[in-house]
Amino acid sequence: MQSHHDFMGLCLDEAARAAAYGEVPVGALVVLAGDVIGRGFNLRETTGDPTAHAEMVALREAARTVGHWRVLDATLYVTLEPCVMCSGALVNARIRTLVYGCADAKAGAVESLYAVPTDARLNHRLEVVAGVRADECAEMLRSFFRRRRGGAGPQGRPLWRGGRVV
Ligand code: ZN
Repeated sequence: MQSHHDFMGLCLDEAARAAAYGEVPVGALVVLAGDVIGRGFNLRETTGDPTAHAEMVALREAARTVGHWRVLDATLYVTLEPCVMCSGALVNARIRTLVYGCADAKAGAVESLYAVPTDARLNHRLEVVAGVRADECAEMLRSFFRRRRGGAGPQGRPLWRGGRVV
């Protein structure tokens, strides 16, 4: 049986694929009884679809795999704390456990801004495991934004932009 650490490693692989598409690097995985039944990475820019977050892509594949909108007893892994939309989708899909990497102070809806998956007013609640490989997940985002700002030269050397090292 693979550990949370191992599955988060596969999410990091998915996130790296997103970065290769020029997408904000977030990766997700749905696991049921030790098997990966859905995987995805952020495709919002590529598809022009505001719902194409990594979690949604992975969840759609998982629902196709099980043949039902309820993806019971499954665990969703994602590198970044889910937003309001994705947290809502996890509740709707009856995902059992959410495991995520780094927190999202600006949009996180699990612990940062809202607590959708554990809100007692909703008819389904998830077990939440936060902070798995959080540093690696956050560093992937940081390095992406550094590169996107045009900061990184060859060998990732920082360049001087606008009066500061970026
Ligand atoms: Zn989202």
